[in-house]
Parts: sequence; structure tokens; C-alpha cells
Amino acid sequence: MRLILLGPPGSGKGTQAQRLVERYGIVQLSTGEMLRAAVAACTPVGLQAKDIMAAGGLVPDEIVVSIIADRIELPDAKKGFVLDGFPRTVPQAEALDELLKHKHMKLDAVVELRVNESALVQRVETRAAQMRARGEEVRVDDTPEVLTKRLASYRAQTEPLIHYYSERRKLLTVDGMMTIEEVTREINRILHAIGAAESKSSGKAGTAKRAAAGTREATKKAAGRQVKPAAKAAKGRAPAKKAAKAARRAVKRASEAVRKGAKKAPRKAAKKLTKKRAKG
Ligand code: AMP
Repeated sequence: MRLILLGPPGSGKGTQAQRLVERYGIVQLSTGEMLRAAVAACTPVGLQAKDIMAAGGLVPDEIVVSIIADRIELPDAKKGFVLDGFPRTVPQAEALDELLKHKHMKLDAVVELRVNESALVQRVETRAAQMRARGEEVRVDDTPEVLTKRLASYRAQTEPLIHYYSERRKLLTVDGMMTIEEVTREINRILHAIGAAESKSSGKAGTAKRAAAGTREATKKAAGRQVKPAAKAAKGRAPAKKAAKAARRAVKRASEAVRKGAKKAPRKAAKKLTKKRAKG
């Protein structure tokens, strides 16, 4: 199963991703987590990302695309994955499409967690308090000020993905204002309805079922969700053309490098190599 979880900061992507991992035995690929690890380890990627993340901005497309390209190569991702926090821009989504196409992999669905913005500040404050209570270091970007900026980034750069995936009939929208349990149940229900939950071996059956049951039903349920008109979304994409090109080049370079590494080095050494690259 290959999924994307889409939603603003605090919408519950991380929590639901963990539940999907437990239920379906897939891996969670969180670019935020990977970048935080890179920052903590002071790797070159970490040093580049640190200030951008602290300010609530988006790390350049080439960096995150390259991280994901390498991470998808690792053996634990073969069974499937849930992308949490990636893609976050249209160029990233295009780069992911290319990457998956190149690897003959298919995306099962994009699950959008739809929430009221007014609830997000409270949620992020709760997350910070819980981390503090567990004795964990609180994220530097989990403050009301930075959250405002992260939400602005989400609206400007990530929201166009709703249209992007809806056009490709991949989008399933779930009401993220329900309780954690209810959201989990709804995600599982929808994944079963489209055949993704049992699609580990039968991708075609899943696609057929999706057309019949999944997307339309889920889209209808997304009460009041506004999908941006094509023209508006296209307008948002125009300035990103350069980044799209760069991201595509990065994907090609990343997959070339991983392939070459796998050819040259014995299996174990290649694994080490890709792990090292993922760390930046
Ligand atoms: P998250 O943990 O997903 O909320 O991500 C934390 C921060 O990491 C974001 O605010 C961005 O600065 C950065 N980040 C994570 N994923 C991406 C991505 N796909 N593209 C750009 N920046 C990202």
C-alpha cells in the first residue's frame, strides 16, 4: 500500500500515519522527522534546513525530493509506505510521480485530513504540552507565531495539491475534526472501499473499485471542501516551474546515484550508502 497523508500542521497526519504503519505493516516516511534528525545531527542538509524550518518556511524542493528518492529505495519501503508531510508543493508532487513511474510503483490514494484552521493552534499547543510532559524537547516551530507562517505556507504551496490529486482521481477526503479513533476508522473504511487495504498483490482490482466507490463517495462526504478552480491552481504553479525542473533533475540524479551505488557495492554496503545519503 502506498499512501500520502495531506493536511495542514496539526491535522493529525503523524498520529494517523503511525496507526497505518501498525495496521498495514508499511513504513512512515515523514520528511519533517527526517529533516529534524538531519538538523540534530548537524549534517549539511540539516544546516541548510535549520533556519528555514525554525521560521516555518519550506525547505527547497530538491532537498526533500532527493531525501525521499533515497528513502524509497531502502528495503523496508518495499512493502509500502505512507508519506507524511511530503509532497508539500506541486513540483514535489510532480517529482514524486516521476519517481514512482520510474520505479513502476503506483500510488493507492491521497488521504486529505480536513480540519478547521481555528482548531489547529489549540492542537499544536496540546502537542507541545504533551512533548514537554514526556520530557521530550519541544519542536521549535510549534509556537503560535511560527504556526501562522506554516499555515500560510500550507495555504499557498500545499493546498494546490488537493486539486492536483483530485484531478488524478487519487484524493480521498476525511473529516479530521472527528476524534482520533473515528478518523482512523474512516480512513480504514475508505481504504477498504477502494480496495487499497487488500491491494498488496492486486493493484488492478483496487483501481476498479476506487472508480466505483471510493473517490466520489469520499469527495461528496467532504462537506463544504472547496477545490480550487483549475485556473487558480495553475496560477499558483507558474512561479514554481523552475523548481519543478530542478526537482525533476534531482529525482533523476538521485535514482541514478542509488542505482549505481547498488550495482557497484555489495548489498549491505549499498544499504549503508543510501542510509547515509538519507541523513544528508
Ligand atoms: P512537519 O514535521 O511535517 O510539520 O515538517 C516540519 C518542517 O519541515 C516544515 O515546516 C518544513 O519547514 C520542513 N518540511 C517538512 N517536509 C517538507 C517538505 N515536503 N517540503 C519542504 N519542507 C518540508
